[in-house]
Amino acid sequence: MDVAVAGAGPTGLFMAVALARRGHRVTVADRDAGPAADGSWERRGVMQFHHPHGFRPQIAQALQAEMPEALTALEDAGAERIVFRGGDGEPAPHAALRCRRAVFERALRGFAAAEPGVTLVQGHVDDVLGSGGRAAGPGSGERAAGLRSGERAADMRSGGRAAGLRVDGRDLPADLVINASGRASRIAADLRAPAEGGDCGLAYVSRQYALLPGAEPGPMNAPVGIIQTLTGYLIAVFLHDRRTFSALFIRPADDRRFGALRFPEAFQAAAMAVPALAAWVDPGRSTPITPVLPGGRLYNTYRGQLDAEGRVALPGLLHVGDTVCTTNPSAGRGVAVAFQQAVALLRLLDEYPDDPAAVALAFDEWCLSDVRPWFSDHVYWDTDLLRRWNGGDVDVTRRLPSDLIMKASEQDPSLLRVVGPYMAMEALPGTLDEVEPQARALFASGWRPAPHPGPTREELAATLPSAP
Ligand SMILES: Cc1cc2nc3c(=O)[nH]c(=O)nc-3n(C[C@H](O)[C@H](O)[C@H](O)COP(=O)(O)OP(=O)(O)OC[C@H]3O[C@@H](n4cnc5c(N)ncnc54)[C@H](O)[C@@H]3O)c2cc1C
Repeated sequence: MDVAVAGAGPTGLFMAVALARRGHRVTVADRDAGPAADGSWERRGVMQFHHPHGFRPQIAQALQAEMPEALTALEDAGAERIVFRGGDGEPAPHAALRCRRAVFERALRGFAAAEPGVTLVQGHVDDVLGSGGRAAGPGSGERAAGLRSGERAADMRSGGRAAGLRVDGRDLPADLVINASGRASRIAADLRAPAEGGDCGLAYVSRQYALLPGAEPGPMNAPVGIIQTLTGYLIAVFLHDRRTFSALFIRPADDRRFGALRFPEAFQAAAMAVPALAAWVDPGRSTPITPVLPGGRLYNTYRGQLDAEGRVALPGLLHVGDTVCTTNPSAGRGVAVAFQQAVALLRLLDEYPDDPAAVALAFDEWCLSDVRPWFSDHVYWDTDLLRRWNGGDVDVTRRLPSDLIMKASEQDPSLLRVVGPYMAMEALPGTLDEVEPQARALFASGWRPAPHPGPTREELAATLPSAP
């Protein structure tokens, strides 16, 4: 059949190749033209493109299952495999990938473009077409039809099904439509119940560096590099491909004083004030290769497949990737969750080849049980983290958020039996319930994790120039 995919991000590209390999003709439409002839790639509308990404083993696992040569293409582009060892000392079956997001996406895009059966087209997706020929999404179709969105959704439900995309005003007919248009997706928004969640209250600011010839990487405490919680903020270093890395501050979005970090001198001075970052960004070890990259508006959102009445509004239209779930990126789960969704969706499309409404219902159910918990986990965690960053103590009168259960496992390694699989995303957040009382008892005894060395948020803010 003919498949139209809206969005050529990681999810859309993965779906396109996997569907082409099942014998379908797939056209992927994205407003982004791809890399320019000189190799540069601005990627407007995907603000995270140059921010640090860690690529969890679930991503290599999905690629290995559907398109193993893509892993070779990624390695050829510079991605490094990081193999974890389990409790038995044996290497885990799938590796995490260490590379810049731009390198990951460029390699995946090149791979998809070369795949027989996949066509990439540039254009803005305006709408989803219904079988009656009318555009189903918000915008021109709605105005032309003169219907309010609720009426239009009902109209689409009466026997219609997805029939393609409208791209830059032209029809792209298809039997199946995949919406992989990312976290700010507005495509067919009126055919789905509104998203839950919103701004997570945290903001990123990062910068990429390259290690100088002969220089060793700095200290690490995690497979990606280093992650540390200080008083009122977080810092991290993500080691990437070809001796590049990102230095990152994560802080409350509403602390406007940190807007000044976007100035290169202020970012460098602040990084040099935090010992773990200073070890990496020291001019004797590395040199910046990008401007400072602000990254406000980080979201925790969840949005299912169904309309507000719990029905499949338009059979043959399926939503996947960040358009279903976006989580605060500090735990680096986004692409792993997106690819897990894609794998589940492909399985259901194989299972119900002639019943797109059944696919939507089953996929919605799967997302509720296997995706939404990551969203809820972050909402609870981030709300409590911001409260503590604003001076609150650990609240031992209610369930601990996951970050504190993870912290407790550093003090009491017996918790790791349960915490380890959660951290590796091999077990859902609900599995932490088993050890939460034990972790809470530790905090109730008065124990608190010591903050890592470095200035408090107040001390750091005092050194920053005032942002206009
Ligand atoms: C700051 C930050 C850091 C992150 N760090 C990590 C990390 O460490 N690890 C991790 O796994 N994940 C991370 N994530 C999450 C990760 O970036 C997303 O999960 C991932 O981009 C989702 O891929 P996607 O293909 O679903 O959406 P996207 O990558 O957003 O792709 C959507 C595509 O749709 C296109 N599009 C949208 N609307 C239209 C339209 N109307 N017409 C045509 N094209 C359209 C866009 O141009 C884009 O190409 C991070 C996110 C942020 C914000």
